[in-house]
Amino acid sequence: MENKRYYGIDIGGTTVKIGLFEGETLVKKWSVPTDTSNGGANIIGDIIASLPGPAAGAALAVPGAVLPDGTVNRCVNLGWGVCHPAEEFTEKTGIPCRVLNDANAAALGEQRLGGGQGFESVLFVALGTGVGSGVVLDGHLHVGARGSAGELGHLIWDPTDAAAACTCGHHGCLEQYCSATGITRLAAQAGVPGLSCYDVVTRAAAGDKTLEAVVDKATDILGWGIAGACAVIDPEAVVLGGGVAQAGEYFRAKVQASFDKYAFHACLGTKMYLATLGSDAGLTGAALYAMDGRK
Ligand SMILES: [Zn+2]
Repeated sequence: MENKRYYGIDIGGTTVKIGLFEGETLVKKWSVPTDTSNGGANIIGDIIASLPGPAAGAALAVPGAVLPDGTVNRCVNLGWGVCHPAEEFTEKTGIPCRVLNDANAAALGEQRLGGGQGFESVLFVALGTGVGSGVVLDGHLHVGARGSAGELGHLIWDPTDAAAACTCGHHGCLEQYCSATGITRLAAQAGVPGLSCYDVVTRAAAGDKTLEAVVDKATDILGWGIAGACAVIDPEAVVLGGGVAQAGEYFRAKVQASFDKYAFHACLGTKMYLATLGSDAGLTGAALYAMDGRK
């Protein structure tokens, strides 16, 4: 691949992370605050003001649904309604620009250059405030007809669980148990409030039986969801990312054991791997998506 310059831009609710890539190499990284005032109208302009120069392409990773034609269908955390931020970026800079969902960007980054390296088809699952997920098939992102492929977090585990109201309007969605927020909630339900998710998992790993039961429940549900997804798309590998995955091998092994319990027999060889790009996954995947658009 030619070593042209590309921008990978990961727009979060408080910070925009920007990476300058030469080919697939990240050469410079910086961030700007996300100005959500005035319906997020200044966000694209603030990003552009921070760029050091022209580039062959760019892509924006955004926390919301993105239709295949580049229309963004609401980003609540940014104040955006239905909008076309990549068009705005190109109009103001002359740089070709694409837009994709942030979990999808992280999926592409991890598949190509992170924990899923060497595999062409990967299911990526990130555990944070919610459960984000992305599907890469044969080396390409599968975004779906409505931009909602890989919404693993909204598989419904228990529709009767009144204590697990989800932001999507349903009850008992997978992310209400398996996200960092969900695991913290389960710990509080078990009588241990006030812990971060990382603390819950590390104390469980150190032998706390109450918290181990919490982690067992969360990983049981997560493995069930991943087994269902694998029965449909049959990826070569699964990559676990986000803050919870930083708890490492203890957590990964429990998800793998649950997956092995629930998986369709022909999917049993599928392995879980930990993500390796950390908070750079989104900007890396965005830059790769920009490069894919220029081929
Ligand atoms: Zn939901």
